[in-house]
Amino acid sequence: MPGFEIFGDEERREVLDVLDTGVLMRYGFDQARQGHWKAKTFEKELAEKLGAQYCHLCASGTSALSIALAACGIGAGDEVIVPPFTFVATIEAVLAAGAIPVFADIDESLCLDPEAVAGAITPRTRAVLPVHMCGAMARIDQLADLCRERGLVLMEDACQAVGGSYQGRALGTFGKAGCFSFDPVKTITCGEGGALITDDEAVYRAADAFADHGHDHAGNDRGLEGHAIVGLNFRISELNAAVGVAQLRKLDVILEKQRAAKARIVAMLADFPEIALREIPDPAGDTATFLSFLMPDEGRARQTAKQLAAAGVDGCFYWYDNNWHYIRQWPHIRQLKSAARLPIHLQENIPDYESLDLRRSDAIMGRTISMLIKLGWSDAELETRIEKMAQVLKRT
Ligand SMILES: *Cc1c(COP(=O)(O)O)cnc(C)c1O
Repeated sequence: MPGFEIFGDEERREVLDVLDTGVLMRYGFDQARQGHWKAKTFEKELAEKLGAQYCHLCASGTSALSIALAACGIGAGDEVIVPPFTFVATIEAVLAAGAIPVFADIDESLCLDPEAVAGAITPRTRAVLPVHMCGAMARIDQLADLCRERGLVLMEDACQAVGGSYQGRALGTFGKAGCFSFDPVKTITCGEGGALITDDEAVYRAADAFADHGHDHAGNDRGLEGHAIVGLNFRISELNAAVGVAQLRKLDVILEKQRAAKARIVAMLADFPEIALREIPDPAGDTATFLSFLMPDEGRARQTAKQLAAAGVDGCFYWYDNNWHYIRQWPHIRQLKSAARLPIHLQENIPDYESLDLRRSDAIMGRTISMLIKLGWSDAELETRIEKMAQVLKRT
């Protein structure tokens, strides 16, 4: 990743179809569009690929999360259990729904710990929203069992894990809805875009309406469409969807390349028994967009991250100090700084995020380094990278 590394004639052709007809809107204009339905094509192909009944393509991964929450009936005052290690958008979407993010610890899978989730359930809990971080899965079978037993809605933030699977089943298909991002730096990209998948027709209908001002999309006269619910505009344009259509058709090639490159780096790491790989519940379903490993302690992790950068091994992330992916650097979220007055149920029920005890997550994140697996690496570049990494790891 990211998918933009392999842009080519395929993306260009799809975009030109749209420019040639002048139809940038994903709905209507049946005559003018000359058979080109980019968003609809993407939806059909992604649903088929992942084995989902329905797919809705929208403006971003963040909006996919907002749409999914609304379509699953999660709203004012509902508690949603989330991990503290994610892209901040997961939390934003819950807050925007008027729901309350409740943080539970992650474990060495770098995703929600099912036991911690069980411990965070209260009578107000409505949903669990695990994030399949850095290309690989949460303990999704255990989380699904827990949600079934406790009568909770399971939703998946699979924004970083398109194409991943657990025991042969696509990530995003375990919950009531699964969300994906196709933003500029994701595994495949639309420029900006996102999608949700579901097997539940009512969830799909609600999502499709909510994302487009409540339109029921019945018939082919937009002006005459009904509105069952209040919605917003989270539509994707046909230009963005066109890029996505070409990218989606490259997903298998992308995953294959990433897996091959990652396997070679992992083989080298076997020489360093004190370094632990992130736990991946089903390694065969890893998308291999990232290689994440845990150093013996925080000091070594910091030092190694610094030395990798100094040695020219780029694309390494020390998330613990990162402004966007871990709660430690989210004072605006912890203090709920907002541009306008917060909804009343949020003001009244929000937990004291400043006194959260996330020691287990801190201990894990403090030791973790993730490396981006790039599509553009030549064989020689990968070899050089592996040699440089080994030198740094021997020293630190
Ligand atoms: C990228 C991302 C999002 C948001 O997607 P956008 O398309 O950038 O809005 C949400 N959650 C996670 C885990 C992400 O990585």
